[in-house]
Amino acid sequence: MLSITEHSYGLVGKCLSHSYSKVYFDEKIAKLGMDRHHYDLLEMPTPDKIRDVSIKNNLSGFNVTIPYKESIIPYLDSIDYSANEIGAVNTVKVLRDADGSLRLHGYNTDAPAFLDTLRPLLKPWHTDALILGTGGAAKAVAWALRQLGIGYLFVSRTPEQRPDSIGYSELKDSTQLLIVNATPVGMFPNVDASPWPYPDMLTQRHLCYDLIYNPSPTLFLRQAKQHEATIQDGLAMLHRQADLAFEIWEGENKTESN
Ligand code: NAP
Repeated sequence: MLSITEHSYGLVGKCLSHSYSKVYFDEKIAKLGMDRHHYDLLEMPTPDKIRDVSIKNNLSGFNVTIPYKESIIPYLDSIDYSANEIGAVNTVKVLRDADGSLRLHGYNTDAPAFLDTLRPLLKPWHTDALILGTGGAAKAVAWALRQLGIGYLFVSRTPEQRPDSIGYSELKDSTQLLIVNATPVGMFPNVDASPWPYPDMLTQRHLCYDLIYNPSPTLFLRQAKQHEATIQDGLAMLHRQADLAFEIWEGENKTESN
């Protein structure tokens, strides 16, 4: 049974002009016939404003994007087990107590979305991975790889600051056949950039996954395709993390309205 209550959802971030989320959620809400729900882009100057934004927009739930996935955590009332392990939140459910006070509960749907979209592409030789970048998205990727039993190393511009990372200059000797771009390098408008410095190393046995979805494919994936590697862009993950967020928001709403 669908919820008949009106629910306001949204995406909270600093600069949201690049976002695809509103288009996706508007289409999803229309497809489900939930016309009383709506989804808005909510730019927020600093993470400490999250309660004000939730109250002002009467939010039942929201997604969190750059640069707040980690910095929002201290302003939430609780976060679930995997979001805590990852150290980043991209989905928040807003609960209201009888006295009207808000409780904000955080989740991470990026990590299971990455896992769900990676798993069908894996071959037996994808036992070790390189994760380019060390931010919130990279941590979600690492969590998913741990669930799948795949070893990984981060690749960072400052490897001296992290014992579990290597530098880009060390990549020419790397043997990992799964490469995940979790940096913004190659994202619109800088579409002529690639985070992977040695495209000629790529082979048919490589699986190259770029979390970027605009453009699709990125220069990294175009170069990988030229070398007959298997490629995956970030769109499938974007849709999956949004669907998982909607299930979190609506799952409890449905119960409440039954
Ligand atoms: P972020 O925190 O801004 O950056 C991630 C990491 O990339 C940084 O920690 C940094 O690691 C590295 N980096 C940043 N700028 C760089 C540069 N100019 N050159 C080389 N490395 C650089 O971003 P994020 O939130 O983790 O997201 C990363 C990417 O994933 C973004 O493009 C985002 O849109 C995408 N994403 C997609 C989905 C999806 O559903 N498809 C979900 C989440 C994120 P070091 O300082 O250690 O080098």
